[in-house]
Amino acid sequence: MNYGIYKNVRDAAWKCLVECNVCRLPVSLKKVTEHYGIKIIKNSSVNILGPSENGASVLHENECFIVFDDENTIRRCRFTVAHELGHILLGHPTREGYNARTIDKDRPQIESEADVFASRLLSPACVLWGLNLHTAEEIAKVCNISITAAQIRAERMDMLYKRDKFLISPLERNVYEQFKGFINNKKIALGE
Ligand SMILES: [Zn+2]
Repeated sequence: MNYGIYKNVRDAAWKCLVECNVCRLPVSLKKVTEHYGIKIIKNSSVNILGPSENGASVLHENECFIVFDDENTIRRCRFTVAHELGHILLGHPTREGYNARTIDKDRPQIESEADVFASRLLSPACVLWGLNLHTAEEIAKVCNISITAAQIRAERMDMLYKRDKFLISPLERNVYEQFKGFINNKKIALGE
């Protein structure tokens, strides 16, 4: 596993979507993690997470694993896995003597970067824009994320719609091109 291949938080989720050739929502985390050779493990089979931990990324003998709390809903689990993937791809430092990354209140910057990555990966703005999605309910359903995560995304989208500056970055244009077939089919299905 090539650890920390993306340093730029702004571009990381777009690069990931392009590199893994993701072209539809909900984003297949199986496809994405397989691309990077990261193994996904249910905590119920390894039992390493603490009581307040939703997930961890573990580096062991040059291999990367993401452990998630499978007692959560699928929608929450998806966000946890994407968040941990963010830590890995952004090259966040591991804690000393413990090769795992968890919810760490001493590192708010790093945790919020991983959240932003997860949000952008699972609900790319240009695709939501292409589908003309606005509400948290719509976003949660199409992206298969929790209503809480979708609410945060909907607020951000509201700002982006007002600003109306989509597809400025060449990377974002690549993402949009990749999703174009999906967007058009979905629009037909929605009767637009
Ligand atoms: Zn984290």
